[in-house]
Amino acid sequence: MSELICEVCMHHCHLNDGQLGRCRTRKNEDGHNVCANYGRITSIAMDPIEKKPLIHFHPGSYILSVGSYGCNLSCPFCQNASISMADEETSEYRTMSARQLADIAIHQKYNLGIAFTYNEPLISYEYIIDTAKILKRHHMQVVLVTNGTASRQVLEKVMPYVDAMNIDLKGDESFYHELGGDYKTVRDTIAYVYSRCHLEVTILVIPGKNDTPEFIGEQAEWLASLDSEIVLHLSRYFPRYHYTLPPTDIDQLVLLQQEAQKYLKYVSIGNV
Ligand code: SF4
Repeated sequence: MSELICEVCMHHCHLNDGQLGRCRTRKNEDGHNVCANYGRITSIAMDPIEKKPLIHFHPGSYILSVGSYGCNLSCPFCQNASISMADEETSEYRTMSARQLADIAIHQKYNLGIAFTYNEPLISYEYIIDTAKILKRHHMQVVLVTNGTASRQVLEKVMPYVDAMNIDLKGDESFYHELGGDYKTVRDTIAYVYSRCHLEVTILVIPGKNDTPEFIGEQAEWLASLDSEIVLHLSRYFPRYHYTLPPTDIDQLVLLQQEAQKYLKYVSIGNV
């Protein structure tokens, strides 16, 4: 039996032959680290690009948005838990080759390209690359909406094909600990990609978790040290999955927006 260590994200899961990782998408098959949800699509829709959210990347356009199942984090407030927390057994999917998916995007009218979103896309990076290679021949755009916890090796493979990203920045180090994530990895990802593609960052503002002016100001100041034109989205939280905290107070969002605007040119409030 050959064990392997998965290097796709910061968890570095040890996988015995036939075993899935904690993301439920990487699998040890005969000593090879394979993408078990390759081409398995649970959701597909034409969305406004602003819904990703990306507001300074081809505004006013629509993009074919696709997702699979699985995630390498365990956010108890996940807004998409029905697919992100699902696995092969508990999700409904259809399988599409990269060619089939790209053909849908290419033949869809008024379509900018493909956004890989809804669940964590980078744990299935091979499918992104295979699809993107076809899209690029048709001058179409590739967008990722991600939690930003993929390894540097994965980012180096994917970034040559990516035109825009929205990365979630969820909270401080202790909050990431609760989610099974890693604050430093996410900040390293942001610092790595901001000069390689169009980047916007989203903080889902959750009462009592990440909603202080100090925290938001610190993140905004740090983002501005990279580029003061990075768009920051402050997104309103609503109770989902295991969290029953009340929705974020809108006045608090406005106060946090004003704090972030001390550093960044573009701070948007969303999901209100
Ligand atoms: S991608 Fe999945 S299997 Fe690989 S280290 Fe991360 S959680 Fe584990």
